[in-house]
Amino acid sequence: MREKILIADDDADNREIMRMALERAGYEIVLARDGREALEAARREKPALVLMDLSMPVLSGWEAVRRMKDDAALRAIPVLAFTAHAITGDETRAREAGCDGYLSKPCPPRLAVETVAAHLRARSSGATL
Ligand SMILES: [Mg+2]
Repeated sequence: MREKILIADDDADNREIMRMALERAGYEIVLARDGREALEAARREKPALVLMDLSMPVLSGWEAVRRMKDDAALRAIPVLAFTAHAITGDETRAREAGCDGYLSKPCPPRLAVETVAAHLRARSSGATL
């Protein structure tokens, strides 16, 4: 069975670039356009990993990650933060919010695919990155 990846991003172009790259790499993709949709999709689809844009309307990625990590049913799902904020300290803040990893935009699709694969491997072997 293909592993399922949830891509949450309010930018349609980013969603599409990541969807194509990850589908080509063999994953099944679920899409969300804001933090609320991301939470709903995480509960419904039980993805193997979430790529979470932090700047999103309705409910931010920051808040969506916090709620996932407060939820016993969702806590174990790795979340990679995805943000255009090239601000020093953003990675630390993302990890404090509960993110398991961090990708800064613009992110080459190949790097995103490699990072997703590395986190899935680490999770299945019980290691942390
Ligand atoms: Mg955004």
